[in-house]
Amino acid sequence: MKTFDYICIGAGSGGIASANRAAMHGQKVALIEARHIGGTCVNVGCVPKKAMWFGAQVAEAIHKYAPDYGFDVSVNNFNWQTLVKSRDAYIERIHGSYDRVLGNNGIEVINGFAKFVDNRTVEVNGELYSAPHILIATGGRPTRPNIPGAEYGIDSDGFFALNEQPKRVCVVGAGYIAVELAGVLHSLGSVTHLAVRKHAPLRNFDPMLSDTLVELMAEDGPTLHTHSIPKSVVKHDDGSLTIEFENGQGITVDCLIWAIGREPATDTIALDKAGVETDERGYIKVDEHHHTSAEGVYAVGDNIGYIELTPVAVKAGRILSERLFNGQDQMKMDYSLVPTVVFSHPTIGTIGMTEPEAIAEYGEEAVKVYNSSFGAMYTAVTSHRQITRMKLICAGPEEKVVGLHGIGLGMDEILQGFGVAIKMGATKADFDACVAIHPTSAEEFVTLR
Ligand code: FAD
Ligand code: NDP
Repeated sequence: MKTFDYICIGAGSGGIASANRAAMHGQKVALIEARHIGGTCVNVGCVPKKAMWFGAQVAEAIHKYAPDYGFDVSVNNFNWQTLVKSRDAYIERIHGSYDRVLGNNGIEVINGFAKFVDNRTVEVNGELYSAPHILIATGGRPTRPNIPGAEYGIDSDGFFALNEQPKRVCVVGAGYIAVELAGVLHSLGSVTHLAVRKHAPLRNFDPMLSDTLVELMAEDGPTLHTHSIPKSVVKHDDGSLTIEFENGQGITVDCLIWAIGREPATDTIALDKAGVETDERGYIKVDEHHHTSAEGVYAVGDNIGYIELTPVAVKAGRILSERLFNGQDQMKMDYSLVPTVVFSHPTIGTIGMTEPEAIAEYGEEAVKVYNSSFGAMYTAVTSHRQITRMKLICAGPEEKVVGLHGIGLGMDEILQGFGVAIKMGATKADFDACVAIHPTSAEEFVTLR
């Protein structure tokens, strides 16, 4: 049996961050990974997604905007495989950089699938490893509906494995992944359908965001199908698929992508042997310090069912190591006011309460909402004018900013700085006190009336 001070199961966002921080504080650390270093984010999530999204931005620039900026562009070909090759080479470089950092920190990386033996011991490839502290950072995986023919579709992992661009594609789902993948495929030239089972995608976001997204999709695609609950999938002799919905409609495509949510990867690691409890959906139950029900066993990231974002897993993993190995007992992960971006076309940025949430919390009288709607200048110079909408939600007599939402070009980069201000408790007057940067889209947030 090999012994360590700290074992991290899963080398994704949370596991790597926690392992590195523990090693920096002098701990002997083992990091166990069943697949690829970097986990979901680096291999089948944020990173390849953003690379594909950048590709889509290039396509939009060439096809929509370049002509009115005076460029006489003729595109001979878009080669999907070249984009995939560039993307994967970039990911390989990230793997290399992770390997270097883990090596420099003296972390032992173990390749294989870990299972608990007890709350201090795990087994990997028949070997036993033990530590007084064990982190479960196993993340999650995509789910599929339980309907006939569901197996003919792929999921987001399958999307990143596509070697050829699908000519006709249907993405089913209404969350981040569905919106992002449908947008990328549409901009890169696939005939793209997005099927949602209710009235709109992102329906839990501020209504202004989801309404505007629907408006923009109606103008420019992808084709949105609402109230479309999948019933079955039929595969034809030519390989095409027809997805049939409960409303009697059907869509025939070459590729079907399920993006209906994810589930925690906690069911096959023998949690019961360690005494780690989960909820009915398999998410690991943790307290505010990320301790599980088993002594010396902790969990962070997508497998606890809180906010499923890379920086959240990273921060929680680091804070845990600070508490365990650097005496920072007062440190605690703060899950409030987490900024987040959907890489749609254009991007959505959001932090804090939606308008309905603010009204429910403070009452309608105490909530003041500021709105702005304008054509992003980059697009307004051309015949493809694209709307940008922004919204500030303030509460109380001091007009504390409790929510900020935007959809438009650059929203992905605009949000972070405003996130700092809102986290510090900024009021509308604080926003107004900051001189605008002109001409930008961001300046709207400090000039709202
Ligand atoms: P993961 O990153 O999933 O890592 C878990 C690791 O554990 C995996 O490598 C897995 O192989 C390994 N593992 C599991 N079980 C075992 C075992 N028993 N033994 C050994 N190893 C095991 N977030 C953002 O912030 N921004 C984005 O733009 C964004 N885009 C995304 C796009 C997609 C398509 C997806 C799917 C997700 C995206 N996310 C994004 C979410 C983000 O990827 C996750 O929140 C983040 O990766 C969670 O980190 P984690 O450490 O909890 O788990
Ligand atoms: P989400 O949970 O965000 O969205 C899935 C949605 O699909 C549900 O909300 C639901 O919407 C719909 N749905 C659920 N079941 C079905 C069904 N049977 N048939 C049709 N539709 C269904 O999951 P995602 O997989 O999109 O993303 C997982 C998480 O990963 C996100 O929540 C986010 O935290 C993270 N992520 C972050 C990104 C970023 O930061 N840019 C990008 C990608 C992922 P409804 O109820 O409205 O039908």
